[in-house]
Parts: sequence; C-alpha cells; structure tokens
Amino acid sequence: MGVIPLAVSAGDRVEMKKPHPCGSAVFTVLRIGMDFKLKCDKCGHEVTLPRKKAEKNIRKILE
Ligand SMILES: [Zn+2]
Repeated sequence: MGVIPLAVSAGDRVEMKKPHPCGSAVFTVLRIGMDFKLKCDKCGHEVTLPRKKAEKNIRKILE
C-alpha cells in the first residue's frame, strides 16, 4: 500500500538510495520479475532483490 509503481524496465540504469559497498549507487536493471536483478555499474557485481525492496530502494531512473 502506498507504493508508487515504477516504470522500470530491463536495461534501465537506476540510482539506488542505498549504495553498493563499492561506493556506486548506480545500477543497471538486468531482469524484472518477482525479483529485480541489478548489476552494479562500478564493480559489475550482480545482486538480486525482492521486487518490493528494490522498488523502495530506487531513488530515480536515469536516462
Ligand atoms: Zn559495486
């Protein structure tokens, strides 16, 4: 409830509220489904987050 649906699609680059341990907050969206699969732009590490958590964590969608 109260969560604004985000128009995120695979291939988008997003800025997260919580940065990756490597210091970069920018991730590329690899896959969207029950989980979001994101790849850190700086170190290339891939992370999988539950959809709700990922949506809450996205600050903005980059061009
Ligand atoms: Zn990283």
